[in-house]
Amino acid sequence: MIGLLYIVATPIGNLSDITFRAVDILKNVDFVLSEDTRHSKKLFDHYEIKSPLKAFHEHNENEKVNGIISAINSGQSVALISDAGTPLISDPGYQLVSEAKKIGINVVPIPGPNAAIAALSSSGIASSSFAFFGFLPSKQTSRLKFLKSKKNLDETIIYYESPKRILSTLKDMMDVFGEDRRVCLAKELTKSFETILNDNLPALIDYLESDSNHQKGEFVILVSPADKIELDEANVELEKILPILCEEMGASKAAKLASKITGLDKKYCYKKAIIL
Ligand code: SAM
Repeated sequence: MIGLLYIVATPIGNLSDITFRAVDILKNVDFVLSEDTRHSKKLFDHYEIKSPLKAFHEHNENEKVNGIISAINSGQSVALISDAGTPLISDPGYQLVSEAKKIGINVVPIPGPNAAIAALSSSGIASSSFAFFGFLPSKQTSRLKFLKSKKNLDETIIYYESPKRILSTLKDMMDVFGEDRRVCLAKELTKSFETILNDNLPALIDYLESDSNHQKGEFVILVSPADKIELDEANVELEKILPILCEEMGASKAAKLASKITGLDKKYCYKKAIIL
């Protein structure tokens, strides 16, 4: 009998945020893969989980995958957890799950907390359509490039940011998105200093600058979709420049350049370029 691979969500702060099923699975598997075994030990002690913990993190995922797959093939059941929230969401595990799926191992999700979804659900920012990008690039030039490429998305944008860069990132966001874009800063979710602010960027920057403690902790940032007016303006510009660019270069290059100039999505510009 082949074993199972469980992907188990654990709390993002408040230890009570774990499902009965998650605790039950963690108690009954042969071993649990954990990003930081010392960190997971606190959760295990709290719930009296005695299963063995094995280290599994971004630096050893590659070398561990084959051994774990062999253990599952020989009948052992394994659970993967991360330090917080749902494994694989800006956390290790993708390689393991993709290899397991390739050879037909049953991968079972045990759903639970996730910082991005918790933030979205309480942000007051449009929730019907959204794009999650994980951590922002740490270098300012790459970050600005990234933000510009997302400026005209007509869906909510969600990303994670470290406390070290939260202030400079919000300032970069103000340069790119302007002063009026509605943004939610969700900090320390489910913890004692939980703060969920929905405001414009100047007000959020004021909040961070008013007290250095406000810059500490874990953050999710949500940006409301581009205004219809902004999108209309970008489309008018696209219609002006795209025919000129297409005369000078191929559709693919023209679309890439048009996307940089207007902030519209590259694939969208390409679709427009090929029907000119
Ligand atoms: N797998 C996790 C999940 O499901 O949300 C995310 C792991 S990622 C390595 C850690 C980042 O998630 C943090 O730097 C922060 O941006 C965000 N995060 C995690 N817990 C959070 C919390 N309690 N409040 C706000 N953001 C949190």
